[in-house]
Amino acid sequence: MTEVTVLGAGPAGLAAALELAESGVGVTVIERQQQVGGNATSFDFGGINVDYGSHRLHPASPPQVLERIRKLLGEDLLTRPRHGRIRLMGRWIHFPLRPVDLLLRMHPRFAAGVGIDLARKALPSSGIHGTETFASILEKGLGKTICSEFYFPYARKIWGLAPDQISPIQAYKRVSAGSIGKMLKRLLPGSGSGGASTKGIFYYPRHGFGQICTALHEAAVNAGATVHLGANVSEIRLAGPDRQVLYEQNGSTHTLATNQVYSTIPVTLLTQLVDAPVPAEVVTATEALGFRSMVLVYLLLDQDRFTEYDAHYFPGEEFPFTRISETKNYSDRSEPAGRTSLCAEMPCFLNDAIWSLSGPELADHVSAGLARAGLPLTAKILDVQVRRIAHAYPLFSTGYEQHFALLDNWVDQLDGLLSFGRQGLYVHDNTHHAIFMAQAAVHCLQQDGTIDTAAWHEQRRIFEKHVVED
Ligand SMILES: Cc1cc2nc3c(=O)[nH]c(=O)nc-3n(C[C@H](O)[C@H](O)[C@H](O)COP(=O)(O)OP(=O)(O)OC[C@H]3O[C@@H](n4cnc5c(N)ncnc54)[C@H](O)[C@@H]3O)c2cc1C
Repeated sequence: MTEVTVLGAGPAGLAAALELAESGVGVTVIERQQQVGGNATSFDFGGINVDYGSHRLHPASPPQVLERIRKLLGEDLLTRPRHGRIRLMGRWIHFPLRPVDLLLRMHPRFAAGVGIDLARKALPSSGIHGTETFASILEKGLGKTICSEFYFPYARKIWGLAPDQISPIQAYKRVSAGSIGKMLKRLLPGSGSGGASTKGIFYYPRHGFGQICTALHEAAVNAGATVHLGANVSEIRLAGPDRQVLYEQNGSTHTLATNQVYSTIPVTLLTQLVDAPVPAEVVTATEALGFRSMVLVYLLLDQDRFTEYDAHYFPGEEFPFTRISETKNYSDRSEPAGRTSLCAEMPCFLNDAIWSLSGPELADHVSAGLARAGLPLTAKILDVQVRRIAHAYPLFSTGYEQHFALLDNWVDQLDGLLSFGRQGLYVHDNTHHAIFMAQAAVHCLQQDGTIDTAAWHEQRRIFEKHVVED
C-alpha cells in the first residue's frame, strides 16, 4: 500500500488526508499544534466558538470544494448575509458597499476626490512610469483618493510595508475590484463575483469556522488516516532508498517510513528539514522571504450583542487593529444569552512590542481604539484571551517573486515531496483554495505511489489564477 505522510493539519493537510484515505492510501498526518485547523481553527471562549480572526467560507469556492464541505457539515453550513462596516474618514460605510449608503454616508471630501480621479481617468494617460508596484497599479486603477484614504493605510497596517515596497502581485491577487469603474459596477444588482444569487452572502458553519477542519479531521480518521497532534516535524529524508519523516512528540523522536511527503507547512522551513543539498542562492532567497504575524485579542463582554455587525474594518493608522469581528453575528446562534465576544486582529512582526504584550495590556489597546472609533466598551470585560499567529501572511515585498521562484524551483526538484496550501506555496489564498490544492495534489498521486509531475505542473498554473476574497 502507498504511504503518504502529510505535514500540517490545517485545511490543506486535512483535506489531503481525507481524500487520500478514501482512495485507499495509507496516511499519517503530523501536526505541531495540539489541535487541528491551522489558521482556520476555532476555540471555545465563554461558550462561544471563536475563530482565528474573521473567517468566512466564500461563495467563490469551487463546486467540488463546496460539495465536500456541504457533505461533511450538512445543515450546519449556514448561508449568511454579509453585514459589516468600514471606518472611513470618521464615518461608517456599509461593507459590502451599497450605492445608497455610499451616497448618504461618504465624506464629501472623499466623494469629491473620487469624482476628480474619475475625471482624470477620462483624459489620455501616459501609463505607469518606472517599476510597477502595488502602489503604482492601485493608483492607476483606483485613483489617488481611494488609495490614500483606504488601500494604502490598510496595506501599511496589514503587511507592515510601504505601498511602494509591495510587489504588484499583491494588487493582482488581492484587490478584487481593480478600477473605479469595476468597483462601481460591483455595486450594481446582480454583479457579485458569484452572480446575483451569491452577492453579499457567505457560508459559515453553525459551530464556528473551525468546524470545517474538525469535520475533515473526523472524516479522515474514520476513513483510516492517523493524525499525530503536538508533533513537530524535525527531518525529512528523501535521499536514501527508503524515504522517512522524523518528528518530535512528548520529548521523543519518531520515524515514519513513507512513499511521498505532502507538505503544507511553511515552504521556507523545507531548506532546514530536507536532507538534500541546498545551493547558496536558495539559502539566500529563503532568508529574504518573510511572514507577517498577527496577535488576536479576544474580549468576552457582559452583554448580549456589542453591535449588529459581523465585522468592522479599520484602515486608519490611528487604530491598532485592522478588523474587529463579533463571532455571534457570523452564526445564527443566540446562545449564550447575555454574553458576546469580540476578536481584534493586530498585525505585527515577531520583534514588535505588540507581539509580547500581556492580555490586559492588549485589552487596553483594543478598548482605547474602539473608543476612538466612537464605539466605547460599555459592558464589563468578563475575560481576555490572546492567540499569536507567527505565519499569518507571506510578505510580498517587491522582488519577492524572484526569491520565491528560486526556492520553489529547488522544492520542485525534490523527488518524493509536494508542497502546497497557503504556507506551502507562499500565497495569501483562502481556505477554499487550500482545499482545492489538496484535492489536486491527491489526483496527481498515481497507482504506483509516484507523482504525475506534468499533471501537478498543470495544477500549479491553475493555482496561479486564484484571487483572494476578503
Ligand atoms: C486573519 C486571517 C483571516 C482569514 N480569513 C479568511 C476567510 O475569511 N476565509 C477564508 O477562506 N480564509 C481566510 N483566511 C485564510 C485561511 O486561514 C487559510 O487559507 C487556511 O488556514 C490555509 O490552510 P493551510 O492548511 O494551507 O495552512 P494553515 O492553516 O496555516 O495550516 C498549516 C499547518 O501546518 C502546521 N505546521 C507548521 N509547521 C509545522 C511543523 N514543523 N510540524 C508540524 N506541523 C507544522 C501548523 O501548525 C498548521 O496547523 C484567513 C487567514 C488569516 C490569517
